[in-house]
Amino acid sequence: DVTKSYGQGSARTPVLRGVSLDIAPGELVALVGQSGSGKSTLLNIVGGLDKADGGEIKVLDHDYGKTAERDLARLRNTSIGFVFQAFNLLDHLTCLGNVTLPAAFAAGGKDAPARGREALDRVGLSAYADRRPSELSGGQKQRVAIARALFGRPKLLLCDEPTGNLDSATGHEVIEFFQKINKDDGVTLVIVTHERRVSNIAQRVI
Ligand code: ADP
Ligand code: MG
Repeated sequence: DVTKSYGQGSARTPVLRGVSLDIAPGELVALVGQSGSGKSTLLNIVGGLDKADGGEIKVLDHDYGKTAERDLARLRNTSIGFVFQAFNLLDHLTCLGNVTLPAAFAAGGKDAPARGREALDRVGLSAYADRRPSELSGGQKQRVAIARALFGRPKLLLCDEPTGNLDSATGHEVIEFFQKINKDDGVTLVIVTHERRVSNIAQRVI
């Protein structure tokens, strides 16, 4: 029963009006809807990047309303991965620097470079570790962003139109990779998408 509005007073616009849904561990779910219908808002609330006005959110055994901010931050940093349409890579860092960035905010990051290279290897980009994101194609950038999201070995991956900026061939690679990490590693995926081929691989379309 999650609610969320934006704006103040008479400009107040309800965006989520009592959303209820359950996603099981290991599911691959597509979240589909018109532009402006609140998909990103919902995903950001599930990921703890934004706060709901009302309702209850439970993610990976954490009841958000009863979880301290620093515990929520740890959950975001270690157990939840995010992939955005716009990649959100930092160009003053190398690809490896981008992938290992989460370790800068967590304790015990000594093995971060090795784990970062491993994550880049998983997306087939180990040769690009020391390059800057601006030197990469769109599909490669998104794969670096996926490596960053997988760096902390998350149980839940939240993807907001991850193929929205990609052509159909590179989009296809990314979609296949999502399917693989869901099957091989049991990662739960929630993918906001407009694309039929993404919803086709989903076990459920919401
Ligand atoms: P979707 O991802 O489905 O396209 P969004 O969740 O981004 O939709 O947005 C839902 C609605 O909330 C839209 O009408 C949008 O204009 C509005 N909205 C989103 N973020 C904000 C914000 N930070 N401030 C005000 N309105 C917002
Ligand atoms: Mg959106």
